[in-house]
Amino acid sequence: MKITLIAGARPNFMKIAPIIKEILSTNTEHSSISYRLVHTGQHYDDKLSKVFFEELEIPEPDVNLGAGSGSQAEQTARIMVEFERDLIKNPTDLVVVVGDVNSTMACTIVAKKLNTKVAHVEGGIRSWDMTMPEEINRMATDALADYFFTTSRVANDNLKNTGVSEDRIFFVGNTMIDSLLTNLVKIKRPEVWEKQGLKNENYLVLTLHRPSNVDDLNKFENLVNAIDESAGMPVVFPVHPRTKKNYDQLSIKPRLVVPTDPLSYLEFIYLIKNAKGVITDSGGVQEETTVLGIPCLTLRNNTERPETVTIGTNEMIGEDIEVLKNSLSNLKAGKWKTGEIPELWDGRAAERIVSILKEMN
Ligand code: UDP
Repeated sequence: MKITLIAGARPNFMKIAPIIKEILSTNTEHSSISYRLVHTGQHYDDKLSKVFFEELEIPEPDVNLGAGSGSQAEQTARIMVEFERDLIKNPTDLVVVVGDVNSTMACTIVAKKLNTKVAHVEGGIRSWDMTMPEEINRMATDALADYFFTTSRVANDNLKNTGVSEDRIFFVGNTMIDSLLTNLVKIKRPEVWEKQGLKNENYLVLTLHRPSNVDDLNKFENLVNAIDESAGMPVVFPVHPRTKKNYDQLSIKPRLVVPTDPLSYLEFIYLIKNAKGVITDSGGVQEETTVLGIPCLTLRNNTERPETVTIGTNEMIGEDIEVLKNSLSNLKAGKWKTGEIPELWDGRAAERIVSILKEMN
């Protein structure tokens, strides 16, 4: 069987790495999958792409489509044009897309129009928030995909409720957690650790990049200010490139918030694993903190990963600054739930995916 794997942006790389590793380590003369890796070029900054290939030992992509940044439509359109050319030249049995970025949706549309089957890893999750570009990517991808590898029973139900038959849904667990568990032995201290004199559990980590938190300068400033005033300990803030422009324009001078460049995967995991807590609007970080048992304050009104709240260590803080301040004081007082690990988030999702793909052969 020939498959084409799509990856384009930072949160995709940890999802494809274990799948490639599993394919390469289980291929035999009698049962093998050959894969072609397409990097769409949606993220091109070395700190958001190259370093992940190195640290996660992902083989060089077969092609980079060089899509680059732009508006939602510009980027999606560029990926579609380039991937259509590539897929016509390199036909495949199955296109495998992961996550919820523009590349996920763009390549799904292209593949289906070329009558190629599509499997969606992390299919079925929903925030039901149509103001999020990712939710539109999820819905469009899942309306077209043929097979779904899911991370939760809620995702299975979401798919079934839209008429997807059970035989196309495979509840396999979470490949992002495969990467997390495999790499825990390799995590490394980032430079900011020594520079700021950080110690276990004496600091927080902050990540923000969703339009709802960082695009309105006033709102972003109020958020950073509230965190700076109530954290009571250093707050390491690896600033996403899409957040940087606005961060540089803030008129406040934070005392405790320490901005840094985006960290490498191994550095980032080191930092969150040893933190007192994490404040975020990222999808992946909600999952990672749940598995690491680290308190997570999510600055959003909803989550497509509800099990991180019902089972894990995550809490939805929403947009109310007072709720954020109260939650931070609970966190500092050690009043936080301990949480458990969601079903099948056991580091073996890629193993299940590859064995199912081999049966499809
Ligand atoms: N991450 C990283 N370095 C950073 C910030 C995040 O390696 O400085 C990783 C982290 O493992 C996380 C993932 O990138 O799970 C999340 O990416 P992002 O927030 O861009 O995407 P989202 O999860 O919101 O889709």
